[in-house]
Amino acid sequence: MKELAEGVWQLEGRLPIPNAINTYLLGDVLVDAGARFDGKKILSELQGRTVSAHALTHAHADHQGSSKLVCETLRIPFWVPERDADAAERPELIRERQPDKLINKVFFKAMAGPGHPVDRRLHEGDEVAGFTVLDTPGHSAGHVSFWRESDRVLVLGDVLNSMDVLTAVRGLREPKTFFTPDPATNRASARRLGELEPALVCFGHGPPERDSRKFAQFCASLPA
Ligand SMILES: [Zn+2]
Repeated sequence: MKELAEGVWQLEGRLPIPNAINTYLLGDVLVDAGARFDGKKILSELQGRTVSAHALTHAHADHQGSSKLVCETLRIPFWVPERDADAAERPELIRERQPDKLINKVFFKAMAGPGHPVDRRLHEGDEVAGFTVLDTPGHSAGHVSFWRESDRVLVLGDVLNSMDVLTAVRGLREPKTFFTPDPATNRASARRLGELEPALVCFGHGPPERDSRKFAQFCASLPA
């Protein structure tokens, strides 16, 4: 795994395309757990590390796919945003809440992992591994981001992508509308994050971004 900032590591992931599905270790907390097929690779990368908890940015199939495996294998608690907690425990709710498109059925079938009991529900202002939880709904009802003001590091899940999730073409973009139940609310979340002017942005999909101005301008340019 690669250290992006002090105590912030990006795991390599299993897919041959770098940055396709990202998971991060923030201090001793694993943030997101990829798809169901990512579990073994995640566990092998975490070997020798202290991991005390597993948190989600949001309960979608490409982020909770290996949550149960990771939590049970490492015997660590599962921390999920309040309004996604029911979906993390009962993944059929993920599919029900996504726009009714064939691609969601296909992706869900390929990636979703089993549900797992949530030990802690995350709220705006909570602290996770030295980061502050920010409510950033839209891509899912409960989506949160993790923000460390001291060195301006932001882990924003799927509020924005820095890679097209279907073609792997790089570049900042909104998440696909067919994966996003409420695009307008998600854009408001993105504009909020842009105002933070982060020095490092870590995405659920795509490579990290270190150009604060470019990121802030992109967020500000999103229509209301
Ligand atoms: Zn995702």
